[in-house]
Amino acid sequence: MAVLPVLRWPDAVLSQLAGPVTDLSAARDLAADMLDTMYHAQGRGLAAPQVGVSLRVFVMDATWKQDEPAPQVFVNPVILSRSDDVASGSEGCLSLPGITTEITRATAIRLRWTDLDGASQDADLTGFHAICAQHEIDHLDGIVTLDRLSPEARAKAEAEYLA
Ligand code: ZN
Repeated sequence: MAVLPVLRWPDAVLSQLAGPVTDLSAARDLAADMLDTMYHAQGRGLAAPQVGVSLRVFVMDATWKQDEPAPQVFVNPVILSRSDDVASGSEGCLSLPGITTEITRATAIRLRWTDLDGASQDADLTGFHAICAQHEIDHLDGIVTLDRLSPEARAKAEAEYLA
């Protein structure tokens, strides 16, 4: 267990398509370090590329700031469906410290992933869980919040970030 450095945009790893996990025992160690890193950084979600590992893993704990910790690990996640219903919300990112951006996403998704025991899991996510999972899966696809903004909004956000 270890707290890892979190890469900051525009680190090149954050723009790469992450590859599938094939070694679950290595993923267990990685996920443990990612959870340590996420809690240490006061985050509620973290994707492996953010710690420099280009693999399809993310961790999430949407409620630990209010409740008991409830860490979740998602290996090789796939969004099976998205609601037509969308909403805009302000999103921060540990790789883009100091700024938030207004992003529109589906309000509900159906997610499939592999757990750390190797079992396939399906769940319907709503609310913050749905938003956070979409944000983290974007990281696995080499997409950061800036990539989802209009050119004008992106220029403004980049200027604020680099200031
Ligand atoms: Zn992020």
